[in-house]
Parts: sequence; structure tokens; C-alpha cells
Amino acid sequence: MSWLEEKEDVFDRLEDISYVPVIGGSIVSFTRPEMNLPNGKNLSFASNNSIFNCKTFLINPYHNKKDFPKLIMDNEIASDSIIFADSGGLQEIRLKGTPDTPEEVMKWQQKYSNIGFSLDKIPFKTDTGSDFSTWTFDSVNLDKYAIQSKERIRRALSVRTEYKKFKFYAIIQGTNYGEYVRWKNIIDQPGIDGWCCKTPTNDPCNLAGTALYALENLDKPIHFLGVGNLSKSIILFYLKKYFKHKISFDSSSYDVGSQYRRFNSPFAFNLFDSIKSEEENSINKTNFCFCPACKELREILDKKELERYIGPLISIHNVGIANMTFNYLKQIYKDKAKMIDFINVTFKESGRKKIIMILDLIDDSYKHGFNEAIKKYKNLIKEFKKTTKQATLF
Ligand SMILES: [Zn+2]
Repeated sequence: MSWLEEKEDVFDRLEDISYVPVIGGSIVSFTRPEMNLPNGKNLSFASNNSIFNCKTFLINPYHNKKDFPKLIMDNEIASDSIIFADSGGLQEIRLKGTPDTPEEVMKWQQKYSNIGFSLDKIPFKTDTGSDFSTWTFDSVNLDKYAIQSKERIRRALSVRTEYKKFKFYAIIQGTNYGEYVRWKNIIDQPGIDGWCCKTPTNDPCNLAGTALYALENLDKPIHFLGVGNLSKSIILFYLKKYFKHKISFDSSSYDVGSQYRRFNSPFAFNLFDSIKSEEENSINKTNFCFCPACKELREILDKKELERYIGPLISIHNVGIANMTFNYLKQIYKDKAKMIDFINVTFKESGRKKIIMILDLIDDSYKHGFNEAIKKYKNLIKEFKKTTKQATLF
């Protein structure tokens, strides 16, 4: 049976907690068969013929509107994939216009993906600067953006025709607990299958605030947007101990391989090495590990093809290491002692203390409620501070 005709409910296939690497830029092009390695293997992680498979991934319909459907039609994408699709909503701010209507986005998503995110009116002021790091979160007019987002969700749902193969998640915007509550109360409506959450900074304390909001207020599957750092994703694994619905989170961090040739250490997830290019004549072979991407790297190390393939191969190695780490966390997340052992060997001292405190806060919040629990963690909560700059949000 082909992927397009699938009859099974997506939620029955989705794991309890899923790492969802973003298929961005270079990896999409490397999914094309003409980019295959000299031995015929495919250089992405989404294809039937990939050197390494990660069949749950996220695609952006704005950037890949035509390329990606072609890959599906040509049967390049593995038939048991679970495909998440963004909405391209961020482009509205970048381009100062709507690239696609909510109806168009929904039609694309339900045809070519399994879980699609709503096209929001993103609550940022764009007149505060010319580049995207200078936009300001518009908390004053938050309700206006939420009302427009609600209407877009309604329009998208009005053209929906798939219900088992495809699920629709609405995004909860905001920078803190109160704003999440306000936004969700406005946009909520029948037909939403799950929620997307995000956090205002890269600090794990901020993600803890969002996770605790979710634990108290959300009763459907959740997807967390842009959770690349292990110090953040580990919090979601611990949240899963109490949150009864499915959790997923996306990340594009692995692609530092293609972008900067940064190579994830196989033995310490948040350590990176740089593998230099052929011109610099200093490739560090001792870095290579046991994964399928490193095996391919070894084979082409002295060949002229190296330059062409080294970036994507490092990206795929990074996805493999992330997958291995997250698969281990899937086994242990209910066992706090094992989680603490993992944290102790993985993070530096300051990070360790903070993350273990966040696990305690999640325990207390589950037992006594968020308002009661935060009284004990005043110092930690001080870090739930607001950040308004766009650059840290996506
Ligand atoms: Zn490797």
C-alpha cells in the first residue's frame, strides 16, 4: 500500500514521544536520487534507500512546495514515514504578505503530510526593524492576533477532508503561562487534534514553564517547536512521565553538519568537533564512529567525492547520534534515578543542578498544581523571564 492511501490512524502509529528532525534545505535536495552516493545509497534519512532512516520528520511546505510532493509521487519517501508539516506562517512576517491562504496550506498538508500545523497570525511587530532579529513580541495586541488566527484555523478546517491519515495541530503563541492561557482560550474550536507549543528562549527554565502549562491545561497530543538542545528535550522526556497524550518535538540542529561541518560526539551528545574540509587537509579520522554515515565517510575519505558528500554525511551522523540518545531516554524517562545518572554524566555542573531542579518542579507541579509548586522554586522561576526578540523564538 502506498503512503498516500494509508487508512490507519496516525496517532496509532506515532510513538509516545518522538524526535522529529526538520528536513530543511540541503537534506531535501539530498533526498533526490540524482544526489545519491557513488554506491547508489541515498544521502537523506527519509528515503526508502537512505543510509540511515529516521522516518518521522518535519517538512516546510513553503520551502518545499513542489520538491517534496515529487519525492512522494516518485516513491522516494519511505511508505511508513510520519510526516509533520509546518505552515510557512513565518514567511508572512519575512515577506510582509501571506504566501498562501489557510485553505491552500491545509490542502497541501493533508495531501502530503500526516500532521499539519495551523497558519497563525504571528504576534510580532515587524515595524521595529528591518531584520528578523529585531521584531518585537506584541503582547499588548495579543488578542487581536489570536482572533485572526482563530479565523484562519476555521477556514483551514472548512476544507479538511482527511481525518485518520491526517491530524491538525493549532499553535499556542505567547511567552508565558498567562499568555498561553489567553491565546488558547481564543483560538480553541472543534476539529483541532493537537497543540503546538514553543518557548521564548533557549533556557530550559522557559521550556519548563511551557511544559507545566501544557501539563495543567492541555488534553490532546502536543508538539513542541524547535527543541534542539538536549538540556531542553530532556525536560520533555520527563514531562512524558505525567502527560498522558503523545509528545513530539522538532529540531534542525543536526544540520550543523552541512552548514558548519560540526560533528556530534557519539559519546557526549552536546559535544561537537569540527571536521575540516579537504582543502584544509586536516580531516580528523579519529572522530568517525560506528554509524552508517561514518562508514560511508571512511570509504570516500581519500576520494575526490569527499567534498561533495562530507557535509550531508556529517548531518546524517548527527541525526543518528540524536536518535540513539533519544531512544535511550525513551527507555528510562519514567525512572528518575536513571534520568539523574544520565544528567550527571552529560551536563556540566551548573546545567546539572538546574535540570534536576526542573525535574523536581515537574514532580511537584503534577502532585500539587503549578501555582503551589512554583512557590518552592522562586529562584528558578525568576528565570522564566520574558524575551521579546524574534531571533530566539524560532
Ligand atoms: Zn557516525
